[in-house]
Amino acid sequence: MREGSLEAPTRHPLDWKNPEFYDAAQVEKELGRVFDICHGCRRCVNLCTAFPTLFDLVDASSTLEVDGVRKQDYWKVVDQCYLCDMCYMTKCPYVPPHPWNVDFPHLMLRAKAIKFREGIRFRDRLLSSTDALGKLAAIPVVAQTVNAVNKNGLARAVLQSALGVHKDRELPPYTSSKFRSHFEASPSFPVKDGKHAPGKVAIFSTCYVNYNEPGMGHDLLALLAHNEIPYVVVEKEACCGMPKLELGDLEAVDRLKQINIPVLARVAREGYAILTPVPSCTLMFKQELPLLYPDDAQTIAVRDAMFDPFEYLVLRRKDGLLKTDFKTPLGKVAYHIPCHSRVQNMGQKTREMLEAIPGTAVTTVERCAGHDGTWGVKAEYFANSMKIGRPVFRRMAEPNPDYVASDCPIAARHIRQGMGDEAQNAVKSHPLSLLRKAYGI
Ligand code: SF4
Ligand code: SF4
Repeated sequence: MREGSLEAPTRHPLDWKNPEFYDAAQVEKELGRVFDICHGCRRCVNLCTAFPTLFDLVDASSTLEVDGVRKQDYWKVVDQCYLCDMCYMTKCPYVPPHPWNVDFPHLMLRAKAIKFREGIRFRDRLLSSTDALGKLAAIPVVAQTVNAVNKNGLARAVLQSALGVHKDRELPPYTSSKFRSHFEASPSFPVKDGKHAPGKVAIFSTCYVNYNEPGMGHDLLALLAHNEIPYVVVEKEACCGMPKLELGDLEAVDRLKQINIPVLARVAREGYAILTPVPSCTLMFKQELPLLYPDDAQTIAVRDAMFDPFEYLVLRRKDGLLKTDFKTPLGKVAYHIPCHSRVQNMGQKTREMLEAIPGTAVTTVERCAGHDGTWGVKAEYFANSMKIGRPVFRRMAEPNPDYVASDCPIAARHIRQGMGDEAQNAVKSHPLSLLRKAYGI
């Protein structure tokens, strides 16, 4: 039996169409089996609060073993997992093909799927409906009202007791100037395919960029235009499905997949590189959907055409097809690489690109910041999300940075909130916006 490896672990398809997938008794048995292995190992104790919750339950039990933990308490562990995949990808020596066959995130997902079928809170359904929420909140006047409510202490206290959204969580603003209605069409350039990446790009903008931070999307388009890369914005898109996946709502994931995949597969087949500016959404197309639909040719075509924006730009640079006429040094950048970028197994492409800018010193923090989608917004998890993020906040503040950046705009907002007054002068900016600034465009 071999433990551990220097090779990247392989994720395996999820057998979610099998009726046994939803068998609660089987899942409870499997939870007990895996929890027992984890209790004997405890390597993941500092990754998130799921493992400390488990180990505290074991340590407080009469037997000091998993058999002393009440089965209904297993679900407390499941609730703490936000499916970041880090335990599987960076720690666990017992992942398949090891005979112990530990796939902690997929087991949590299976348990969440069962819990979802049994019924979940209205709040959880609402927060994971990013597209519907965005469409509503981005209506002119409604956008201003939502933004004003989000900043009003009294209104937030009411929101917390009515909906369970923590009153202290800084929420992203909504815009009535949606990215998909206001983007600039691509100038006309000849397509220059490189050895490592295609020379034309299709943009899947994401709910977040469309409704919350369209500037990130405009910055990406400006970078492509500056580098004479023709682009299109895909003709139709719905949420990628990650928030629904995190809730265990696999039927909703399936509905969203039916909308997105045919459109994206078409541009993939036409030879476009597809760029998605939010790491969780990129990961959804690169990994999660292919694991749910391993035999679906369209899903696999989309996976193969999907790039993180910085992964794409670094490959263009490798092909000698990226301009390096940087005009503005950025100074000190504290950069956080989110979990959903790390599990894409592509290396630190954003850091590499930012470090190529003269007069720019990048401090990279590679650790979970603890927000994870809608998890850190919820009243019952807010304190834990700030606790998990504390080492990240501290290390990001240490170099007294000019800029605080993360590929994940939600993590960046959370980190900036957690840094508080310690980093008064640090400006939160997305790496795409920083690169645009460096080009002076
Ligand atoms: S997937 Fe992430 S949140 Fe879930 S148990 Fe593993 S490390 Fe913790
Ligand atoms: S997931 Fe793997 S590495 Fe982490 S505690 Fe469990 S057995 Fe150990």
